[in-house]
Amino acid sequence: MIPPIASRFVAGETPAEAIDHARALNDDDVSAILNLLGEHYDEREPAAADADAYVDLVADVGRSDVDACVSVKPSQIGLDVGEDVFRDLLERVVEAGDEHDVFVWVDMEDRHTTDATLDAFEDFARKYEGDVGLCVQANLKRTPEDLERLADVPGKVRLVKGAYDEPKDVSYKQKSKVNEQYRDLLEYMFQEFEDGIAVGSHDPAMIEYAAELHDEYGTSYEVQMLMGVREDAQRDLAAEGVEVWQYAPYGGKWLQYFYRRVRERKENVLFAARAVLGV
Ligand code: FAD
Repeated sequence: MIPPIASRFVAGETPAEAIDHARALNDDDVSAILNLLGEHYDEREPAAADADAYVDLVADVGRSDVDACVSVKPSQIGLDVGEDVFRDLLERVVEAGDEHDVFVWVDMEDRHTTDATLDAFEDFARKYEGDVGLCVQANLKRTPEDLERLADVPGKVRLVKGAYDEPKDVSYKQKSKVNEQYRDLLEYMFQEFEDGIAVGSHDPAMIEYAAELHDEYGTSYEVQMLMGVREDAQRDLAAEGVEVWQYAPYGGKWLQYFYRRVRERKENVLFAARAVLGV
């Protein structure tokens, strides 16, 4: 069982718990992006097992009354084994999404995976007519070009700042530079995309900027944030009429994810310490 301290960031261990969490979010007009925790499998078997788990989850969501979609990591469904395995398993999930009318997001991992992830996304987004979304990272120097390519592809694009520590020849290291590129890319998307813009950030400045761009260009957009992070803001934005999606991970492999969330922010370390010490 997940201890209460970790359940701030993780929706449960089972698909049923994840769907219950989604239903509770829906009560506050927030939709759910469900992610089964797992990554970097170097054999086909565990990757195929997680792909099958996503196929079942998508069917469960489709049969339920909840407003939810899923988000998969390429290395979770075979990219470390081979590009052909990744494409094969991703297509299984996307096909299920298409059948059950459940949207499928593809997370973006480190720079070694970018080309294979973009290529697979583009093929499936065209084949399944926009049932798929892709995450792109503002810290990478290549992303303006990638977005030009994606502007004509059906589907959605989630813009994030980037969670991976990349070398400086391919990425911006300074926070201010990443923020500058995030703004530029956001403006490009509002100008050039017909719709399908997802602002994947907790940063109030970026969320405000997206609202300004929406007023200026009229393009629709959604905001995506993680479970356990600025949940008040998620509810407030939804109450103001903004489309809000919460990325909610679930599954047995929650411990590593929980530590990542705690380590990335001083306040979370204090929160964890207080919970453990009971102060
Ligand atoms: P930061 O630059 O970290 O912070 C800016 C400001 O936001 C802070 O000053 C503060 O005001 C506010 N803020 C940030 N965190 C908190 C907090 N915990 N509590 C209160 N205020 C806070 N990365 C990838 O590389 N690939 C992915 O596929 C991917 N998917 C993602 C999906 C979603 C839905 C989200 C939200 C993020 C995803 N990320 C992904 C992570 C992303 O790249 C960033 O590492 C992460 O979101 C931190 O950047 P930020 O824009 O939220 O704000």
